[in-house]
Amino acid sequence: MSNLKPNDPVTAVIARLEAAERIVITAHVNPDGDASGSSLALALFLRARGKTVRLAIPMNDLGTPGVLETFQSFHDDSPIEVPDLFVCLDCATVPRLALPELRDKAGVWPTLNIDHHSTNTRYGQLNYVIGDYSSTGEVIYDIAKAAGWPIDRDIAEALWVAIVTDTGRFSYSSTSPSTLRCGADLLSHGVRAPWLNDELFCVRDRKELDIHRRALSSLETWFDGRVAVISLTECDYEETGCTKSCTETFADIPRSVRGSVIAVFLYRLPGDPKTHASIRARAPYSACALAQVFGGGGHELAAGATLDVSLGAAKAAIKDALCLQLKS
Ligand code: AMP
Ligand code: MN
Ligand code: MN
Repeated sequence: MSNLKPNDPVTAVIARLEAAERIVITAHVNPDGDASGSSLALALFLRARGKTVRLAIPMNDLGTPGVLETFQSFHDDSPIEVPDLFVCLDCATVPRLALPELRDKAGVWPTLNIDHHSTNTRYGQLNYVIGDYSSTGEVIYDIAKAAGWPIDRDIAEALWVAIVTDTGRFSYSSTSPSTLRCGADLLSHGVRAPWLNDELFCVRDRKELDIHRRALSSLETWFDGRVAVISLTECDYEETGCTKSCTETFADIPRSVRGSVIAVFLYRLPGDPKTHASIRARAPYSACALAQVFGGGGHELAAGATLDVSLGAAKAAIKDALCLQLKS
């Protein structure tokens, strides 16, 4: 073990993880690269330390990184029993936890909440929230480094996926010098960066290009082009055969409109009665402030909300809210 300082909050996190034998790890719904990558990395670290680890994330819904093959080694359909420790990752609020049946366990089972959303509601008995850090993946990396846990290629790739997806490939403002040092260290553990880059960002199935075309066709601009919006309906997903994970980066489409300060991607998923909003902003505008109007949250420049109304009503409500925000 490296030199842990007694008053450093990370010391308590490591002590809690080391003391537990049976650990359940979960993350937010529709897990993205950071949610699934950081969960898998922590699960692999802990399994290597002899713990019994249960990954409570829907296996058929891994989000972007279908590339994380070691996920399959945690496959387990048996009921989830009370663990020594329940770890929630990359999830700002309890209603966003991935598995509905575990939502009433947060803060009831011994819960360790690890996250990088400044809007996190601190629902664990122990909360390790580093607001506006690049990714939960980087938080897990720091914990592992402080603990002196060895990194292998599978772990390095899981962390890499977490970090590159949440930082837009090391480009967003949350990318710090430490994020790049972390990336350099992960590369030294054998991360297949060109392959992962192709799989995550460059190579598309035909159906993904089809839904991309539909997204482009839906583009609207409001307020003299300061706001750009795209939207996808249940039919767009059904007719192309795409899932949410195919459209993980689609908020970048409206954000690419020159002059846009707010970008919104609205989507409705088959079998889900709600409308989801993925919001991006350019400083000094706040994506989080807009998301919070609708009970959502996230980061200043990347946030999201779920609205219990139709697509048309969601659009109208967002336009109204923006009308106020862009004036002030
Ligand atoms: P996304 O637009 O889905 O890539 O999410 C951007 C950021 O907002 C991420 O940090 C999400 O965790 C957060 N976020 C997305 N949707 C919601 C929501 N409904 N409630 C709270 N936070 C959200
Ligand atoms: Mn996430
Ligand atoms: Mn994240």
